[in-house]
Amino acid sequence: MNRKDEIRTKALTELQEHSVLMLNGHFDFGNGYHGRVYLNPHQLFKHPSTIWRFAQDLLDVLPASILDATQVVAGPVTGGALLAHTMAGLLDSRRELSRERTLFAPFRVAPDCGETLSRFYRQQVPGKQVLLVDDVRNTGQTLARCAAQVTEAGGTVLATAQIYDRMESMVDLGVPNIALAEYKAPENFPEAECPMCKAGQPITSF
Ligand SMILES: [Zn+2]
Repeated sequence: MNRKDEIRTKALTELQEHSVLMLNGHFDFGNGYHGRVYLNPHQLFKHPSTIWRFAQDLLDVLPASILDATQVVAGPVTGGALLAHTMAGLLDSRRELSRERTLFAPFRVAPDCGETLSRFYRQQVPGKQVLLVDDVRNTGQTLARCAAQVTEAGGTVLATAQIYDRMESMVDLGVPNIALAEYKAPENFPEAECPMCKAGQPITSF
């Protein structure tokens, strides 16, 4: 196994140790569905040192060419922005002091039009190479909306990256996507058809 694969394998285990990812449970999602896997990204941010460590690992699995070209790290509030802020800082700690410092940009969520950059951050982006990050990639729609905002502001999206990819993305942004960890959860069941209920497995608390 090469070093990047080792980092990825270890990250998947550590996500479970930090209760970000809970496998093999019997979860009641409160919407009429039960399932075996529960994901709680809040656990990534409860202790800042946790996200710093995962951010280091994500930087370690990103291709050197992307890291070298990155001028802005941007992500949607809350998890993506916290991750982007951490990664932008860590990136500078790995670079020559003489290099221009890495910028950070958060996308806020407007109730009617989704992810947007505030005027201040829009002004930082023109002509810049942007690495888009998020804590979790679900359908990929969030990153797609963020990418559209970067392009509209005159920046270039280099790549997308996330701590955890649910492998359910339905969009292709035409740039590389790099995940630290990935795992496709098995399907959920309507409560009445849940095999874990039928087997008498108690509901897992979370
Ligand atoms: Zn059940």
